[in-house]
Order: sequence, then structure tokens, then C-alpha cells
Amino acid sequence: MHRWSELFIPTLREAPADAEVASHKFLVRAGYIRQLAAGIYSYLFLGNRSFNKIKAVVRQEMDKIGQEFFLPVLHPRELWEASGRWALMGDNLFRLKDRKGADMCLGMTEEEVMTEIARKELRSYKQLPQIWYQIAPKFRDEPRPKSGLLRVRQFMMKDAYSFDIDAAGLDVSYKKHYDAYCRIFDRCGLKYMVVEADSGAMGGKESHEFMVRTPAGEDQIVSCDGCNYAANMEKATSKLWPMDDLAAEGDGKPLEVHTPGQKTIEEVAKFLGVSPKNKIKTLALMAEEKDETTGKTKSRGIVVLLRGDHQLNEAKLNGAVAVATRPMEEGEIKALFKSPAGYLGPVGIEWARDWKKDTHLPVLLVDKALEGRTNLIAGANKEDYHLKNLTPGVNFHPTAYVDLRAVTAGEACPNCGKALRIDPAVEIGHIFKLGDRYTQKMGSRVLDKNGKEVTPIMGCYGIGIERILTAAVEQSNDENGFWLPPSIAPFEIVVTPINVKDESLLKAAVDIGSRLEAAGFDVILDDRDERPGVKFKDADLVGIPFRINVGKKVTEGTVEVVLRSTREVRDVTISAVVEHFRGALRAQA
Ligand SMILES: [Zn+2]
Repeated sequence: MHRWSELFIPTLREAPADAEVASHKFLVRAGYIRQLAAGIYSYLFLGNRSFNKIKAVVRQEMDKIGQEFFLPVLHPRELWEASGRWALMGDNLFRLKDRKGADMCLGMTEEEVMTEIARKELRSYKQLPQIWYQIAPKFRDEPRPKSGLLRVRQFMMKDAYSFDIDAAGLDVSYKKHYDAYCRIFDRCGLKYMVVEADSGAMGGKESHEFMVRTPAGEDQIVSCDGCNYAANMEKATSKLWPMDDLAAEGDGKPLEVHTPGQKTIEEVAKFLGVSPKNKIKTLALMAEEKDETTGKTKSRGIVVLLRGDHQLNEAKLNGAVAVATRPMEEGEIKALFKSPAGYLGPVGIEWARDWKKDTHLPVLLVDKALEGRTNLIAGANKEDYHLKNLTPGVNFHPTAYVDLRAVTAGEACPNCGKALRIDPAVEIGHIFKLGDRYTQKMGSRVLDKNGKEVTPIMGCYGIGIERILTAAVEQSNDENGFWLPPSIAPFEIVVTPINVKDESLLKAAVDIGSRLEAAGFDVILDDRDERPGVKFKDADLVGIPFRINVGKKVTEGTVEVVLRSTREVRDVTISAVVEHFRGALRAQA
């Protein structure tokens, strides 16, 4: 049995000055972790013990669907050149040179290494499908490490990769991971959501994020309490109620109206006595694209139209145009619209019909909320004037209708119509359908049933090991500390003799601890010669879900069992302690 008096559990009264989130404060205070440098942490006894339990859960569930590897962290540049990520990852990739001057990097993920193995070893459809995974350190040179273990430069990840002969095979591998992830997070006692996600720089198609709601989160999640709908901001939509369009004025053609000095949506709507919902918001942006062949940067106008009361979601825009954008400068606005800002609109400009072909023309992206609307109002591209009677597709021709608007809390769920909520959340896992992006680029080929060469299709699947612990702390803490689910706590039960100088108490405590340990429970004995208050304070702090106080009632044959989460105290007969915990821990699991 572990005895506290012999262990190194450096608890602190004060949290680090820079700690803002609960998990950062408490993991340091509880002696789980110590910072070595910005975003780099040492895991001490309690922390490592908890991580080992998390890794064991992950390993057990992953072993049901895949095979564990252990891959190098140090990678040669050539591999990352072959995948195209040497350039793509920029400053986020830790780079170094070996003594011969060869470029190397520290792995952020292992697509390249796994694909290299597949490329060299897999020859036939008969060898597929394969699911390979590992649990290993990863590196990312975060520009601003913070929040303790939430944004770090070295972390542990379970990363898995599947190789299938075709898309139907990938569907099966993907579903296996989805189910395994649910089992892992259930067993780790987390309250999580599965969210449709944008796969961003990874360049895949279908993808899901596993998220835990917490104020410490840096992501925003849109979800519905009425049904299962959940999505990240980049994917989220909402139901829009049918709109009353304005009646056409005059002969129905675009009608110029004098709006002196009225520039903002609200000013114009008020001035004309209409709702901002009948007004078009015109955003003038520039895309900067580097020409691969000439190496020159080319700018192209990208104009976005939104309903007057809607906001642009930049991630949706980035997803749609796949290049970086910035607001147009004054001169650029003048050149395209021939008008000062405040009176911009889509009429009278030749927009690209096909943005891949008409690359010399500016692009007009119209948010889907404006599709089918009529008699809208927009700037006239003339100082102090706006245009009425504008109908998309009639008075101007969008390059494309795209979902670009940001969803806001309280809007209607697209599935059931109930009000949507938006909460900060932390990502604990992510699964992607990668496709053939890596296998194609790196030249992995196998023969299919007909003897034809095909490219295997990949999926990739990550779990942040530290994220599981931090999310668990974030979701279960109070002013005195935190409590972990028994499955991932460093110990399940702390047995606390009230006074170790009283030999009968100490003996009873050792006896109870030994019986619990023999029954398979993970027990620590707080045998320190300290006042009970000090020991209770530490026990409340360090995340152990149950405490047994061994005190005076021992003479009556009972001890107190304290449930850390609710502080519920119950007298339990010493002879029934093991039975009690069999029930209590089962109820918690
Ligand atoms: Zn709903």
C-alpha cells in the first residue's frame, strides 16, 4: 500500500500567478505537474499515475480495433517534404539539424511515418484493412503556450491511422474509431459532445470532434438541448424563419434613393424605415494568392454579401476560398467600386461566373440566407446613394451562394427548431477521413482484387491524453480542489487515520486499506503525522474521489466515508467497507 508519508506529493497553498484556468491552478497545486519551460511540463508521481490510467483505458479500447506501434519522434525532412507539410506547418514545427547538417523535425503527428511504412510494406488488398496506433509524445511550437496543460509545446497523443482499399472500407474503420472513442471517454467519466467539424489544414472530408464544455475552452461549440445537434462554429447552421420581403417600388427596376451621410446598416435601415434584414451587408476583401509557377503574389477582390443583421464567420470563408483574405484598402475599394466605403453594393460590377476560370475577375460570394430573397437594399456604389429593388440573380450575378454567416446563440436549431446555445469547449479527440492525400503523394500503392494498382485510403484519429485529465478537472472542481472519476484518479480511495500517534487508529486504517487493496481497489494511506485539517485539505485538493476517515468511531466498528464530489459523509461498518466500495465505485463508473 502506498503511504503518503513516504511519497513526494508537493501540494501548494497558492496557484501559479499566471494560472487562469482551474486545471492549471489545481494540477500545479495538487503536485501533479511542474513547469520546466513555457508549455513544457514534468509530470510528477500523482500526475503520471493518472496519465498511466488514462493510457491504459485508451490502450484497452484501441487494442480491440487496432495494433499498437511505437514510432520515432525524430523525423527526417525528406518525409515531410514528400507529404508537403514541411512548408505547410511553418513555425509550428520544431526543426533541428543533425551533426552532418541534415534537416530534421520533431513529429506533430505521424501520418508521414505511418504512410512510409505502408508504402514499403503493403502490397495487396489481402493485407488491408490495417489500423495502426501509438501513444507517444508530440511536439508543436505554440506561439503562446498557456493554460497549463491545455496549450503546450510537448504533449502525449494517441494517434491512429487506418489504411483501406476503398471508401467503403474507410467508413468501417472510421465507425470503429467513433465507437472506440465513445467507449474511451465514457470510461474516463467525461461528459462530452460529438461535433461535426471542419478538418482545416489536415485537408480531409468527414470529421468529428469530441468536445467537453468548459469555460476554459478555446473553441466555441454550437449545440441544441432539444436534440443531438452539435457543431463547431465553422460548420454550424441555424434555421432561418421565413422573411417578409419588401414590395417592389416603382417599375421594379433598381431604384436609386438619396441617403445622405447614412453609411451603416442601422443608419440606412432607420433612414429608409426598413428592417436591417431587408438590407444587404457588403464586405470588401482581398485574397492574396501566390502563383506557384512565377512565385509572384496576386491579389483578387473577394466581395461577400450578407443579410444586414448577420455577421461573417471567417472560418467558413477560409474554408470556401482556401486562401488568406484581408480587408480591402481604401484605394482598392475605389478601384473596384468607384465609390467611397459606406455605399458599396454588387450592382454594376462584372463578377466572375466561374472563379476557377474567370481568374481576372473579382469574386462575389453571397450568403445562403440571401438566396431567394427579393427587393433588397444595398449601396449604389455612389456617395450618399443606395439602391432599392435588388434581387440576387436578377440585378447582379453571384459567383456562388455559400454558407458564410456566423450562427448566434438563441437562433433556431436546424433539426428541431429549439434555441441553440454556444459554449466554450475543449477538444479531447478528433477523427478524420483523410482520403488518399498522403498515400497518393508518398506513392503508396497496393494491388486490388483484379490485380490493378490502387492507392489505399487513410483515416487519422487523435486523442489528447493530457486533454482527458484537464477536461476532467475542469468539469469537476470547487474552491478547494477537484475530484476525478475513479477510473483515471491516481488513487480511488485515501484512507485517513485521524491521529497516527493513536496506534489503534493507525492499525485499523492499515487493516482497512489492506483489505480494500486485496479486493482490487487503488488505495493510499495518509499516515502523515499532521493535524486532521491539513490532511483533509490535501485530500480535497488532489483529485481522489473517496476518503475514509478512521477516527474515534472505530471503537464502535465504524468509519466515515466521504464522497469528494458532494462531500456526503456516511458511516460505514468496518466489516462492510469492501462491499460498500464495490457498490459505490460501480455506481460512479
Ligand atoms: Zn435541436
